Amino acid sequence: MFGLIGHLTSLEHAQAVAEHLGYPEYADQGLDFWCSAPPQIVDDITVTSITGQVIEGKYVESCFLPEMLAARRIKAATRKVVNAMAHAQKHGINITALGGFSSIIFENFKLENIKQVRNIKLEFERFTTGNTHTAYVICRQVEQMAPKLGIDLAQATVAVCGATGDIGSAVCRWLDRRTDVGELLLIARDRDRLQNLQTELGRGKIMGLEEAMPLADVIVWVASMPKGVEISTDNLKKPSLIIDGGYPKNMATQIQHPEVHVLEGGIVEHSLDIDWKIMKIVNMQVPARQLFACFAESMLLEFEKLYTNFSWGRNQITIEKMDQIGQVSVKHGFKPLLLSI
Ligand code: NDP
Repeated sequence: MFGLIGHLTSLEHAQAVAEHLGYPEYADQGLDFWCSAPPQIVDDITVTSITGQVIEGKYVESCFLPEMLAARRIKAATRKVVNAMAHAQKHGINITALGGFSSIIFENFKLENIKQVRNIKLEFERFTTGNTHTAYVICRQVEQMAPKLGIDLAQATVAVCGATGDIGSAVCRWLDRRTDVGELLLIARDRDRLQNLQTELGRGKIMGLEEAMPLADVIVWVASMPKGVEISTDNLKKPSLIIDGGYPKNMATQIQHPEVHVLEGGIVEHSLDIDWKIMKIVNMQVPARQLFACFAESMLLEFEKLYTNFSWGRNQITIEKMDQIGQVSVKHGFKPLLLSI
């Protein structure tokens, strides 16, 4: 059995969907209440591969909210993640993806040091961040979508915001070695990490966001930001492709310009309907078929009976592992989400 640990995008979102998740009494509660709410299994899932194989899974709502980070409720945030992991393990789930901020909190607050949660000894090999599949899907979205918009990647400038992150660094490696894009712009806040990445790649220009925006034909957003930033289309190249891979979304603005194309990043579409309700609750456009690539990674590991933490630690995603997960993604019928133009 596979598992997905997820969370909602904001307190407002959580209050609005509490009833659908099965706990209507949470709907009018504030952040304090959500900080103390326990994890819950809110969905039983059945997925059929195009090979005909059928697997079962469960969705664990951790009750984490990004506002907990903004309000510096770090203890609450970390408790949400380890409690959700213990809950998944207690229910006998073999491989569980840590969705959205769960893996970021796990890494940033070194939760590998918390090995015991009440009577459960956490077995980390039962968990995956899902980031290898997410990075693979984002790269395929760049490769498949840019040419449709008349952007020649061999000549193009691609800006990666969140370049030093787990997903961002993997995306940079692939775009450098596989896609061989014209120019890479590396954006993040920590200068040392940016320089280390630049050294590893042997290329890439380190730049601020404002400076990079007008130069980029493609912008990949994979920064871990609790709230999105406002973008004005005035500063963007036309045409350009923006792939917003953050959860919550990195871009707060709804871009409305005929030559600026925004694609939801790290989202896959399955070839067959999935029997679940959770993607409707998180407002996925086609909830029976579309899902986060990190969640799909745990499904793929279950299909392949690869019970191992396939994506783990930070900045260790290799092109070979992206290839491996990409092949099984195609085999079982998942496709990167594209824009219909
Ligand atoms: P990491 O924490 O590993 O990396 C985050 C990156 O963002 C770092 O480079 C960090 O560098 C940068 N960053 C953070 N804040 C800012 C800022 N204000 N301005 C510029 N750069 C910033 O995160 P992951 O790679 O694990 O995840 C990245 C995003 O992808 C998250 O939003 C996550 O929720 C989402 N995600 C989506 C998935 C999907 O299936 N679609 C799956 C998993 C994650 P620095 O701190 O130096 O600025």
